[in-house]
Order: sequence, then structure tokens, then C-alpha cells
Amino acid sequence: MTKYLETTPNADGFFGDYGGAMLPPPLEPHFVEIRAAYAELSKSPEFIEELRYIRKHFQGRPTPISHLKNLSAMCGGAQIYAKREDLNHTGAHKLNHCMAEGLLAKHMGKTKLIAETGAGQHGVALATAAAYFGMDCEIHMGEVDIAKEAPNVTRMKLLGATVVPVGEGAKTLKEAVDSAFGSYIAQADHALFGIGSVVGPHPFPMMVRDFQSIVGIESREQFAEMTGGLPDVVAACVGGGSNAMGLFSGFIDDESVELVGVEPLGTSSNLGDHAATMTYGVDGAIHGFMTKVLLDADGEPAPVNTIASGLDYPGVGPEHAHLQKIGRVNYSTADDKETLDAFYTLSRKEGIIPALESAHAVAWAMREAKNLQGKSILINLSGRGDKDLDFVTETHGFGE
Ligand SMILES: *Cc1c(COP(=O)(O)O)cnc(C)c1O
Repeated sequence: MTKYLETTPNADGFFGDYGGAMLPPPLEPHFVEIRAAYAELSKSPEFIEELRYIRKHFQGRPTPISHLKNLSAMCGGAQIYAKREDLNHTGAHKLNHCMAEGLLAKHMGKTKLIAETGAGQHGVALATAAAYFGMDCEIHMGEVDIAKEAPNVTRMKLLGATVVPVGEGAKTLKEAVDSAFGSYIAQADHALFGIGSVVGPHPFPMMVRDFQSIVGIESREQFAEMTGGLPDVVAACVGGGSNAMGLFSGFIDDESVELVGVEPLGTSSNLGDHAATMTYGVDGAIHGFMTKVLLDADGEPAPVNTIASGLDYPGVGPEHAHLQKIGRVNYSTADDKETLDAFYTLSRKEGIIPALESAHAVAWAMREAKNLQGKSILINLSGRGDKDLDFVTETHGFGE
């Protein structure tokens, strides 16, 4: 582990001013148990070996880095490289932490994984882990999302998960979180909550970062092997922030490497039109931890909007708030229009159809490459675009 990772967060789960754990009393003992289990297992050679085996023989790791030569030539300036997390089993980086959460649950003697899902990507990844480990799986999903994301609902059911429809309020992600949490409180003696990003109460932001750090470890080695050095800039899209923390953690002690988080600007910088929490948010609490949040006039989490449903969150992982405050990571944005352009361009120029989330990082690289003559940019291609094909072609055609 690197110097930074060894010392951050502190024992109470704080990344500087951010993080921590504000828990309802019935959950306190269960989180004490999770922290103790992780503290022990993260140092256990047997656990690490088992995770390594799963990554190699089930997930398809290591994933390669691709040099995007055609895109680089078109943009004129920096050479652009992509870490290919789209090549993970189930199509995105999410399986990196879902398989590890499943393994943790198994070692804790739990028999069930519970979570919420928005567009269904996290639900599919967690249901995959549950099937692999022979566990029950319960995924809470808003009724609006169930209607919109039918293929992912089908996948979860085929994988053996129970999909619980949530009909309260706006019937989307926020209500699904509340519903899943309530169900978890009732079952915490035999279930583990499988959080989907570097968010939630301590130890989840740290644990999910550590589980994703394989992306950064591989990338640092692979990039050096390909080019003989380190990238000048490393960039990734930020929703909750797990794919970004995974990649960043491999370079965080390398002062020469600039780190950039790319947030969704949606249709404009007006509150309600975007989900750029790091750029426009303020300090506050959400879902049991301190971070930056987008708040409305009443101080409630604001509505958010982006073409990429996986980035649709009015909060962000606490470590990002910290890394911004200490000046280690810069945060920028890409809007829906640039993102769609990047989606079509990467498909046509490189033969890679990216997830709309990942296309935000591609859009940033396409915009900045000309300002970085002679330099190199490594982006995280967090997932593939299969899930977005219908939406993109039905609403925007083929991009001619
Ligand atoms: C869920 C998702 C994201 C956003 O989550 P992070 O925790 O910010 O990484 C990004 N890309 C893809 C492909 C996703 O499925």
C-alpha cells in the first residue's frame, strides 16, 4: 500500500473533515462487527489469495490498457490511453467491489446480500456476486426505474435475486436506499449491505476504495511497461466516486501525476440540471456521513440530472471532498452534449462503445488533449455501453 492509503482515513473513518459514521443505534453493533472483520481480513493472506483467484478466473483481470491512437491523432495534442474496466465480467468496474463484499460476507458467516439500485447496474453486479457465493440477494429498486430498466431487472431475476419494487415518493434511487436500509436493519444478523460506491458510513468508503485499488495498481504497472514512465494526467468520471478512487489510488503518492475527477454537468450549471457535487456542492451530511452535497433552498438533497444514470447522486464519496480540499485532485465537468459526442466518437474511431458514465471522462480528454501537447492522459473506461444502446439510438440516432 502507498503512504497515503496507509494513513487515510483515520481510525474513525475520517478523511480530514469528511466521512465518519452517523448510524441509527440498532446498526451500531453491526458496523462494529463489519469494521473488525475487515480489519482482520484485509491482512489475511487467505482472503487476499481468494480474491486474487476470483479476479483472475471469474472476473477476467487484469484488464488491459489500450492506447487510443486514432482518437489521439484526431484530437491533436496529448496521447490518450484507457484502462479497460469495460472488459470486466458484467461490463463495468462495479464487480471489483461487489465480489469483495460477497467474499467479506462469506467470511463473516452471512448468508444474504442486500442493496438498492438505481439503473440496475449495481444490482446486477451484486446479484452476480451472490450467485457465485451461493447467497440470497435482495435488491430494492424504485418502480419508475424498474419500468425504465427492464433488461437489468431480467438479469437480476435470472441471477436468482429478489427484486423489491419501491412505490414511495418519486419511486427512484433515494426511496430505494431508504427501503433497502430499513430491510437491512431488520436482517443485519444474517445479511450484509453491499454498498455500491465509496459512500455510506465508515468503513464502506475505505473498503470500497481498497477493493477498487486493483485498478490503480494494475494501471501503474501496465502504463510503465507500455511507455517506460507514468502518465502526466489521470482522469475518471465521478458519480459516488469508486472507479475514480480505484484508479487514483495507484498514483496518489506520485506528485508529478495530475489527478482529475470529471463530473456530469447535465444540461446546465443551474441547480437541478446537473449532478456536479464536487463543483457546485456545499459541506453537509447525507446517508450517514459528512461530504459535499447538492442542497435545495430548504436544505434537502437537490434533484439531480445527467444523461448517465450511474452518476445521478446529490452526494459524493467523502474522500473526494478531502482530496479536493487538500488540493490533490482537481474536479472538472462534461455536459450531456459533449458526452454523447464522445460516446459516438470513441465507438467509431476506436471500436469501443463506452458506458455514458465513462464517456464523461472521454469527453474531458477530447477537450483537454490539445492543451497538453506532448503529454499523456490515462482515463478510466469504467464500463461498456451495451446498457445505453437503446436509449442513445432512440433519442439521438447514430450520431451522423
Ligand atoms: C455506476 C457506474 C459509475 C459511477 O460510479 P462511481 O462510484 O462514481 O464509479 C461509473 N461508470 C459506470 C460504468 C458505472 O456503472
